[in-house]
Amino acid sequence: MNKEKKIYVVGIGPGSYEGMTGAAVAALEKSDVIVGYTVYIDLVKDHFAGKSFLTTPMRKEVDRCVMAFDEAMNGQTVSMICSGDAGVYGMAGLMYEVGANYPDVDIEVVAGVTAATGGAAVLGAPLIHDFCLISLSDLLTPWEKIEKRLLLASEADFVICLYNPSSHKRHDYLKKACELMLQHKSPDTVCGIVKNIGREGESSQIMTLDELKDTQVDMFTTVFIGNSQTRNIKGKMVTPRGYRDV
Ligand code: SAH
Repeated sequence: MNKEKKIYVVGIGPGSYEGMTGAAVAALEKSDVIVGYTVYIDLVKDHFAGKSFLTTPMRKEVDRCVMAFDEAMNGQTVSMICSGDAGVYGMAGLMYEVGANYPDVDIEVVAGVTAATGGAAVLGAPLIHDFCLISLSDLLTPWEKIEKRLLLASEADFVICLYNPSSHKRHDYLKKACELMLQHKSPDTVCGIVKNIGREGESSQIMTLDELKDTQVDMFTTVFIGNSQTRNIKGKMVTPRGYRDV
């Protein structure tokens, strides 16, 4: 019988080995080849000696997928790794799309801790109630659509968690996003930022939406904007479970 051709698409969590799930560790242990963006390979390689590691630069996502499928077709068990969860702004969708050309290869997605929940734990308990994730990257989404989502999510009083809040070319996007959210949210809304979650140099800060507007963040930061109920309790960002008084 032919050996099953298998690719795991693995979310490795926000950074540290301890932040990986047991299932993610098991998938990498079962793999012969681990494929990923250079930064993520560097995060895991010390813990998986003896594997072969293949990297491609950022933006070469399709090449990275094809590389993974070619290895699987050659009989290797492969893991494609992503930071956080592979299904949240990760490679899982693209792997299924590219995988349509490789019907003999079985794809299994392994869930990971995404930056929203990893960062929430650092800040306190900001998500708790209804929240939404919005990426400020307009590489794959038109900015008009991002604006509409920011406005409507603010109007609906969601807690909002922003991924990709900045880059070299988009250094003023967080400011623009805050100005839009301020159309519906109070300037006193409790907000938080977390940088390098689970990685060396992890740091966090709590501030108001008005202060967030003038704060510079980088691409390794996740930003949290509270709802109208979110409070700062002894330096922790806390959203109540519901809208009833406790
Ligand atoms: N698949 C990833 C998200 C990739 S999008 C996940 O589920 O977490 C990249 C964005 O995620 C970054 O710009 C940042 O906003 C956020 N992010 C990912 N890892 C992070 C970390 N360790 N610390 C802070 N933010 C992180």
